[in-house]
Amino acid sequence: MKTIASIAQELEGYDPQALSASTVSSFLSRLVEPVTQHESVGIFQALGRVLSHDVISPISVPPHDNSAMDGYAFDGAQLSSQASLNLRVVGTALAGAAWPGRAGPGECVKIMTGAVLPQGLDTVVPQEFVTRDPLPRAGDGDCIAIPAGLLQAGDNRRRLGEDLMQGQPALQQGDLLTPAALGLLASLGIEQIPVLRRLRVAYFSTGDEILSLGQSPRAGAVFDSNRYTVFGLLTRLGCEVIDLGVVRDEPALLEAAFLRAAGQADAIITSGGVSVGEADYTKAMMKKLGDVAFWKIAMRPGRPMAVGRIGPSVLFGLPGNPVAVMVTFLAFVRPALLQMMGSTAKAPPLLRARSLEPLRKKPGRTEYQRGIVSTAASGALQVKTTGNQGSGVLSSMVQANGLIVLNHTQRDVAVGDPVDVMMFDGVI
Ligand code: AMP
Ligand code: MG
Repeated sequence: MKTIASIAQELEGYDPQALSASTVSSFLSRLVEPVTQHESVGIFQALGRVLSHDVISPISVPPHDNSAMDGYAFDGAQLSSQASLNLRVVGTALAGAAWPGRAGPGECVKIMTGAVLPQGLDTVVPQEFVTRDPLPRAGDGDCIAIPAGLLQAGDNRRRLGEDLMQGQPALQQGDLLTPAALGLLASLGIEQIPVLRRLRVAYFSTGDEILSLGQSPRAGAVFDSNRYTVFGLLTRLGCEVIDLGVVRDEPALLEAAFLRAAGQADAIITSGGVSVGEADYTKAMMKKLGDVAFWKIAMRPGRPMAVGRIGPSVLFGLPGNPVAVMVTFLAFVRPALLQMMGSTAKAPPLLRARSLEPLRKKPGRTEYQRGIVSTAASGALQVKTTGNQGSGVLSSMVQANGLIVLNHTQRDVAVGDPVDVMMFDGVI
């Protein structure tokens, strides 16, 4: 485990009083380490978990060549571009019940989607392309005629192993188990999945003006909202959450909360009490108990942040303002927690959308504005802001479907200029 000082030394231009968003990301990626303990869980418990080992296909999917259509299977070597092909229907292959016979030249087999292709047959003509008529002599059955030039040999055949080949890696260690991944594992017949253990994250809110839900309102006090946004963000990420409540600004209470968190959590998230002018004891207690850096980040919202370790736990001391909490979580904490969870997933790409309004932006800091992205009549993406961008205006996070990310060097944005957007999809 690296100390804060040693990571700071590795980073060029590290200045805790003026850190760029990209330096914060580099710092955190050096600070955190993935969990290593793993367990085996049933497939219904595996959604959102991280694979601890590669999964090698025990079988091929599909296990046989089979038909992609309802139609007639035949040997495609008989096709010619000049003449239509007449074939006598000699049997039926149903999905789940292979046709055991052999069809020779001039013969075909009625086949259903997913049915195993009978031996020697490699091509399927969809039933809607042919008419089926009785042969002239009674008792000879039916025939079909395939027009010239309609098909090539191999058409409408799904090949053995075209999805997954036996012995090949199907999923890799570090993959997040999405609904699609669950389906893939099931297609391989795998019911028990090896996953890394869930990350345990403890969180609490600080500040004497913060009321817990259920307390009666009093002058100058506000209800705690940060614990609920943090709870939601962590739960969406698949973390085990440990809610330590609102902690009043008393050294003994703060110390007890930090020590309780450090004893059982991989990460601790606090909100409030880390800005420069803070009169309270939060910063002092972090300093006393851990190896912690106090930063001013060149960003808006969310300038102050404390980061480090208390005991074995990683500490993320977020600002108090409700929007700043969510933005710093999305920009920095979430990627760091994913790394701790052992996920190797890359951050989804930012979208580019045209701004529907002029945006004021000073170079030298990263700004995250709450945006509403929509599709213009032309089909291009466009974005407007939610209006008041105050860091306490939590309703802006509810209205928005993404964050407009105005990067460090960017200046004012004119109407029609393209801007980057981080979409909330599935995250918030
Ligand atoms: P601080 O970072 O402690 O100076 O707090 C900045 C602002 O955020 C203040 O207006 C606080 O009242 C507000 N705030 C801090 N913590 C919370 C919280 N848990 N829920 C809602 N607002 C908060
Ligand atoms: Mg405060």
